[in-house]
Amino acid sequence: MNNLNSEAFFNRAQKVIPGGVSSPVRAFKSVGGIPRYVAKAIGSTVSDVDGNNYVDLVGAWGPMILGHAHPAVVDAVRSVAEKSFSYGAPCAPEVELAEEIVKRVGPVERVRFTNSGTEAVMTAIRIARAKTGRNTIVKFAGCYHGHADAMLVAAGSGAITLSMPDSQGIPQSVADDTLVIPYGDVSALQEIFSAKGHLIAAVITEAAPANMGVVVPPAGFNALISQLTKTYGALFILDEVMTGFRVSVAGWWGLDGKNENWAADLFTFGKVIGGGMPLAAVAGSAECLDLLSPLGSVYQAGTLSGNPIATTAGLTTLQHCTTETYETLNKNAQEVGSIVSRSLFAAGVSHQLQTAGNLFSVFFTENPVLNFAQAKLQNANAYATFFHEMLAAGVWLPPSAFESWFVSCALTHDDFEIIEKASKQAANAVASTLAE
Ligand SMILES: *Cc1c(COP(=O)(O)O)cnc(C)c1O
Repeated sequence: MNNLNSEAFFNRAQKVIPGGVSSPVRAFKSVGGIPRYVAKAIGSTVSDVDGNNYVDLVGAWGPMILGHAHPAVVDAVRSVAEKSFSYGAPCAPEVELAEEIVKRVGPVERVRFTNSGTEAVMTAIRIARAKTGRNTIVKFAGCYHGHADAMLVAAGSGAITLSMPDSQGIPQSVADDTLVIPYGDVSALQEIFSAKGHLIAAVITEAAPANMGVVVPPAGFNALISQLTKTYGALFILDEVMTGFRVSVAGWWGLDGKNENWAADLFTFGKVIGGGMPLAAVAGSAECLDLLSPLGSVYQAGTLSGNPIATTAGLTTLQHCTTETYETLNKNAQEVGSIVSRSLFAAGVSHQLQTAGNLFSVFFTENPVLNFAQAKLQNANAYATFFHEMLAAGVWLPPSAFESWFVSCALTHDDFEIIEKASKQAANAVASTLAE
């Protein structure tokens, strides 16, 4: 296996694209080495520009739930593409996709499409501020909601008044309106409401956190957010950009809120709903969403929003995401998780396999990870070793210890065998570096 072509592309890219990539994690900075440039991906297999093949456990960070280049999705997109890529005018597939989402998620009555999850979150926050006439947003450390200014604040360190931006270029005045508390911390949540409830426009959370590695929501935590926001006249923004239509027919809400009888006021979706095309959505009650222009006074727009290609890719993907699809995904996730965990146990490597629906990740640490502070205690070097051994043996994992792994329906028996062989080798490699 050589990487000469990837290396050549990476060198060229670094001269014209900052860091050589269009999104930072792709640069392999946290694991080291040369990012692989992808030539194609079909089913469960990613092929790079040097002709190496990998079993895909990233799935384009979630959307390729059916596997890459699923024939039905490709056919649907191809036939729409022949009729132009974008009209800048309303079209049928966006209506059908919105109907499909409304049908699946009980509390959702309206859907407005955007091009990215970041935009969907930005709009959700704007609606919440308009509706409540308040500015303060509460978020949880380690939850990722895209790269809008107000959301790049995570350095709470438990000090609820100290909002430090995560990135330069964010005005302190913007950061000041975002309060960060530890994930899953019931008393921090109750305290922030009793101290500042009258200022809080919304609480935003990942439905199940999967951007600090996978962290399982404590029982009743989302329900508590729902109850507190209601009591204090704030809104509940459930960020399902990753979990939406990935973990069940009705997303995380379908596993949790539907049974516990709570609803969020606003939902954000992305990833799966575009089937790999740039598409996301802000959704929720008519009361909230109808505040958007042209009906209401909250402005939001997008030249390419709801375009026929993206909405067709998403619609066709969702039409193939049936109850049986999620059974297959759950089974595949369980299979991969247990193969990897068994290999690590056999090699004597301490780790945590953490699972939320069919999302999971492996932390190299001795104790369960419940929040961001604990996630940061994992051995990221051990992950880097594991990652590179897996890659060399033909398995494509997320190039960061703080990301979820994603299975698709396309994984085959042969893929599981490749994963098993690779993970034994990788586990032994981690064990020997730990022994040094
Ligand atoms: C990926 C993600 C986003 C951001 O979506 P983009 O399309 O990358 O802007 C927001 N929230 C969550 C939970 C995500 O996983």
